[in-house]
Amino acid sequence: MHRLTLAIVAAAMVAVARPAAATINVVTSIPDLADVTRHVGGDLVEVKSLATGVEDIHAVPMKPMYAVTLNRADILVVLGLEAEHAFIPGLLEASRNPKIQRDASGYIDASVYIQPLEVPTRLDRSLGDQHPMGNPHYNLDPVRMKDAARAIAEGLAKNDPAHEATYKQNLAAYLVTLDAAIARWQQEAAPLKGKKLVSYHPDMIYFAERFGMEAVGTIELRAGVDPTPSHVEDLEKMMRETNVNFVVRELHYPAGLADTIAQVTGATLVQLPVMAGGLPQTQDYIAFIDYNLRTMLNAQSGGT
Ligand SMILES: [Zn+2]
Repeated sequence: MHRLTLAIVAAAMVAVARPAAATINVVTSIPDLADVTRHVGGDLVEVKSLATGVEDIHAVPMKPMYAVTLNRADILVVLGLEAEHAFIPGLLEASRNPKIQRDASGYIDASVYIQPLEVPTRLDRSLGDQHPMGNPHYNLDPVRMKDAARAIAEGLAKNDPAHEATYKQNLAAYLVTLDAAIARWQQEAAPLKGKKLVSYHPDMIYFAERFGMEAVGTIELRAGVDPTPSHVEDLEKMMRETNVNFVVRELHYPAGLADTIAQVTGATLVQLPVMAGGLPQTQDYIAFIDYNLRTMLNAQSGGT
């Protein structure tokens, strides 16, 4: 009897010591992708994002710690379309991890099913353009993020074929949740229809298009190129003539110029994060889109 009890205790300890199943270690470039990957991967994955959501995706610093994180990763998920040019290529090299290099199965490009906007007809990197493959800020469009979720589910299944059915099921469940949110957002966004906005960087185009608004210009001269006085003058003239409603200041860009342009032209200044995780109330993807839409609607109705 005593011996039997001991045997049971020993068996239980082994069961506790050994994890139920080895989880897959996934690293994503930005928090939006981490949240989607957590939904699609469920308890089969452990997910961590490199960026926290407060950074400019075109200028995320290459911290040595990130190379260590990537060295231990089984899978890397990126937004793609060269969005992470500032940090991912360098960190991948430093990671010395063959599993997640660009041509390996552990490299999941979430943009493979995305139809990008603003694809340049002529590629000229000498102009300093940050969007050589088209506009990469599709994370602000919840409908395109459904395509990203599909790419992530397929990527996970490719790396872990034994659980393909689970990833498909999790994806289907997440898409139901996201579709319900999209239907609600599209109703709520009705007062924004036809409204015009200018943003600091060309990162609001997908959001604007999805919710019936028009992104008509940027404070930057081009993506990644600082404004010149004559550009600002032309922009203000255009904004007055066409009655632009909003100036969007993304939280990682300077406030002063955006504020001045809004005041001079009579537009309303709206301050928004452009990635999930940038604010305490935008920790998951749906909460992030919720926050941005609510903030825009408050600005439209004259609130703050
Ligand atoms: Zn950009």
